[in-house]
Amino acid sequence: MKFVWLSVSSIKTGTRRIVRPDELSFVTIIIIIIIIIIIITIIIIIIIIIIIMCKICGQFQEIVDHLVSGCPELAKTEYIERHSKAAAYLHWTICKHYNIKVQDKHYEHEPATVTENQPATILWDMPIQTDKEIFLHLKKGNKLQK
Ligand SMILES: [Zn+2]
Repeated sequence: MKFVWLSVSSIKTGTRRIVRPDELSFVTIIIIIIIIIIIITIIIIIIIIIIIMCKICGQFQEIVDHLVSGCPELAKTEYIERHSKAAAYLHWTICKHYNIKVQDKHYEHEPATVTENQPATILWDMPIQTDKEIFLHLKKGNKLQK
């Protein structure tokens, strides 16, 4: 490794050589030490950022709240799958309540789009039209996220 920035050139001979440590001034040594400290600090900050940031999206701190419900990458697949599994359990429970034949184990239940018997019609994963506007009530401090 050549330290070109620590070299001196001779106009007479046209040669270039590395400055010996005893030829460096005190100010030059201090500047070199400060530059080394700044580089080490930047490297440490980068390592800390890499360690604490979400490994999936890389945009936010990797904390429990973020992983459970705030990661934009997980929202595309995992959160929808988790929601569907919870809803499938509710569908299974409702089917059992109305004596509709279902699997013995809820995790084996695959909801049909329309399930019905005499007293009940259960719809799965389909939009419904309403005459009334549906509102979302949030607690204080909670904001809607896009
Ligand atoms: Zn994330």
